[in-house]
Amino acid sequence: MHWAITLGRIGGTAIRIHMTFLLLLLWIGVSAGLRGGSEAALANVAFIVLLFACVLAHEFGHILMARHFGIQTPEVTLLPIGGVASLERMPDKPSEQLLVAIAGPAVNVVIALMLVIVLGVSLDASSMTRGLASIDDPRHGILSRLAAANIFLVIFNMLPAFPMDGGRVLNAILAMNMDKRKALQISARIGQGLALLLGFLGLFGNPMLLFVAIFVYIAAAGEAAQGDLESMTSTLAVRDAMESKFVALYPEETLADAVDKLLATPQHEFPVVDHFGKPVGLLTRDALLAALRERPREASVMDAAQAPVPSVRISDRLDDGLREMTRAGAPAISVVDADGRIAGMLTMQNIAEMMMVRAANPDWKFGPRPG
Ligand SMILES: [Zn+2]
Repeated sequence: MHWAITLGRIGGTAIRIHMTFLLLLLWIGVSAGLRGGSEAALANVAFIVLLFACVLAHEFGHILMARHFGIQTPEVTLLPIGGVASLERMPDKPSEQLLVAIAGPAVNVVIALMLVIVLGVSLDASSMTRGLASIDDPRHGILSRLAAANIFLVIFNMLPAFPMDGGRVLNAILAMNMDKRKALQISARIGQGLALLLGFLGLFGNPMLLFVAIFVYIAAAGEAAQGDLESMTSTLAVRDAMESKFVALYPEETLADAVDKLLATPQHEFPVVDHFGKPVGLLTRDALLAALRERPREASVMDAAQAPVPSVRISDRLDDGLREMTRAGAPAISVVDADGRIAGMLTMQNIAEMMMVRAANPDWKFGPRPG
């Protein structure tokens, strides 16, 4: 995710903070300082640190539940509305999706209950009804504000709109009763409708809502597109999506040869294959251009190629291929047959084109045609 800085890692999960989250914290700190002086500002800094911990605990609710189902989480990004744990994938079963989605808000329920019951924190009704506005109000004690903030997090995250947990809960419940794709379309539409409503309320009330509404609207659209991509890639094999007509490079070829092939073909990425047809590297256009700045034209393509080359098997599922591509951070990867020989290239461009075909005709069947 862009516009985010990495703070550290817990158990293989990188913890990142989005700039907008920092802006929110800054806004809370400065507004408290202006109203109540340095003591209030200090109390708010403490509050912010605790709030930050609660949001993180919420995310680890999702992360640990996902891990229970065998799914790892490479990173978690904290945003003003609560944070996004980037799970490697979502569970296939709607019932597991439901549990992963609900585990986050459940953590905040537990924190709020502990604050109220164990520590005896009082929670007056006015701080609840005034929602976000009271969270930065220095007249309340830190812990009661924290309890209110946790309840606010629960209510807010359970709004039935992507990317909120409530949107995922709604989607999982719908998917238990109908086709996955249809469930996603309906829940994305409800999410966008809710975003418009929030935006409308934001125009006349808390301007923060307007900001959140825009975020929710974009996320809902992104989620629908992501869902379309997943529903397409989960039913296809790598062989259905790969480019089977491509030009390869050989290890003894030079940068000048690579430039010739770059200009002679529409290809941007070239597999480097040995004389048994096995991929030994991948040369991207960017890597080639970078090498041209530093190396002579006679330099080997192997000096510029990415090795070991990421590759997938022709019989792998397309979503596994896409995941491998994401993991490798490469715009293309080699596809190999059962003997490890190159059979094609899987490129982002090709997958994007398949999405366009599918958008034009939702019933389009990819893959080998009978007869
Ligand atoms: Zn959550």
